[in-house]
Amino acid sequence: MNSTAMLLEVKRFGVHDGPGVRTVFFLKGCPLKCRWCHNPESISSQAQLAYYEHKCIQCGECIPVCPVKAHGVINGKHFFERDKCISCGVCEDVCLGSSLKLFGQKVSVEEAMEFALEDKDFFETNGGITISGGEPLLQAEFCAELFKLLNKESMHCAIDTCGAVNWSSFESVLPYTDLFLYDLKHVDDKLHQEYTGSSNRKILANLSRLSELQVPIEIRIPLVPGFNDDNVSIDAIGEFLSKLSGIRTVKVLAYHDLARSKYTALNIPYTMPQVSIPASDKLSEVTVRLANYGVKVIN
Ligand code: SF4
Ligand code: SF4
Repeated sequence: MNSTAMLLEVKRFGVHDGPGVRTVFFLKGCPLKCRWCHNPESISSQAQLAYYEHKCIQCGECIPVCPVKAHGVINGKHFFERDKCISCGVCEDVCLGSSLKLFGQKVSVEEAMEFALEDKDFFETNGGITISGGEPLLQAEFCAELFKLLNKESMHCAIDTCGAVNWSSFESVLPYTDLFLYDLKHVDDKLHQEYTGSSNRKILANLSRLSELQVPIEIRIPLVPGFNDDNVSIDAIGEFLSKLSGIRTVKVLAYHDLARSKYTALNIPYTMPQVSIPASDKLSEVTVRLANYGVKVIN
């Protein structure tokens, strides 16, 4: 079998997505719709064209190349009809203003493997490959096939998951995965639904089940003001984690709003309320609070 996946991008020399230096494959498609999502281009499982209107220099190069006439000019001003776009990506190549960007392309296991092997020499003893997203386990077959090949090359394999998938998806990658980076956003189901659009029941159940298998897990908590940065929420998360085995480390990731322009470019509403970015002393406070529950919190 040679599965394909809808790839968002590949990041080389990553140092935040697992141990050591890593090549990170970001796949498209996510079952959650977190209000604060920093990568809105990863939510849809389809390829999408982003249009950064403020960068458009009105050169008109995109108009003749589009096969479905999604670009045009009215009163000397460029317009883009998103509904017509079939995401072929041709206009991105000719855009002189760099205002068009296609997110998403198909990649085969074979192609991904070639890419990974190019970086093998940089990984040293603890680096390797991480598949992130979006939610990579929505394309579990691709992940399993790629990891199986990487295992043969003795390359470290990590999955960065939101956990909101069927257990069978975990089962398919389990034999080949060295580390799970597991997002835990809230243990309160009502708040979780309000801010992510989905229940957390499957996420918590999968995490409990995974931890029982003693698979290495790093928990990642996005610290989102007004959602989970209060003491009650942090205590509830700490309490939940203290009952699990197999949790190696916990990392707290601070909310930021740098992704706003991507929402506009993709015509996706930004529904996160206006909040302040967590200060470093808030991060330290949460770190200490979580550590009280016996978990090892890393920065
Ligand atoms: S991506 Fe293709 S279909 Fe969409 S606007 Fe560009 S050229 Fe047209
Ligand atoms: S090619 Fe790019 S810069 Fe030129 S009109 Fe089209 S969108 Fe604007």
